[in-house]
Amino acid sequence: MVQKLQLLHEGKAKKVYSTNNPHELLLEFKDDATAFDGQKKGRIREKGALNLAISVLLFEYLEKENIPTHFIKKISTTEMLVKAVKIIPVEFVVRNWTAGSLAKRMGIEEGIKLKKPILELYYKNDELRDPMINEYHIEAFELAERQHIEKAKEYSFAVNDALIRLFESVGIILADFKLEFGIDSKDEVVLADEISPDSCRLWDAKTMEKLDKDRFRRDLGRIEEAYREVLKRLETRR
Ligand code: UDP
Repeated sequence: MVQKLQLLHEGKAKKVYSTNNPHELLLEFKDDATAFDGQKKGRIREKGALNLAISVLLFEYLEKENIPTHFIKKISTTEMLVKAVKIIPVEFVVRNWTAGSLAKRMGIEEGIKLKKPILELYYKNDELRDPMINEYHIEAFELAERQHIEKAKEYSFAVNDALIRLFESVGIILADFKLEFGIDSKDEVVLADEISPDSCRLWDAKTMEKLDKDRFRRDLGRIEEAYREVLKRLETRR
């Protein structure tokens, strides 16, 4: 029986608890939503449960695709048990279509398919608003070991290939997404955090309707319905 012990960390969308097993943590998904580095705040009904269900489904799928993840098991509608890992303080953003900060930075419109995927690295630091960095910064500031970054890069592209295929099969375009990785007790790199419409840009392939957090960022409404639609479509693939 898993015991939920001490609250170790409360993030914007999740809480992390210790458990009676020092090698395992419990993640609780919240309904809170934030955007623009926490400047915009809100609550989306059922978001915690929807993001958890989608993340579980995607982690299970990726494990089958030989990508190791921190996921152990689902505990409740909003809680999952995960491996305790040391999080690499780098966000790995993979892009297939122009959107968000890439469109802005390059002065280009959204919704253009890229000739090949782009991988970007960001330093995970709320105070600094997650600045973009490269591998030289990671080495110079010793944010992570070189071999771990190499592995995480390899997994980022493997996750992209696998998720493009999965979403395509349910009529969804995977425009971009963010991944986080951790190092487990055996010094192996594993996929961590969550993969959900909070961390991905998902567009309906027919209508190009947004099915992700941009509905919250841009006040498009029907957020919960969009997240539910993503889950519903993925469930048909089980
Ligand atoms: N993303 C995320 N967390 C972050 C920053 C970005 O999950 O702290 C995701 C975001 O949802 C999108 C992708 O990473 O799917 C690329 O985001 P972008 O750099 O365009 O930033 P945005 O303009 O969305 O903040």
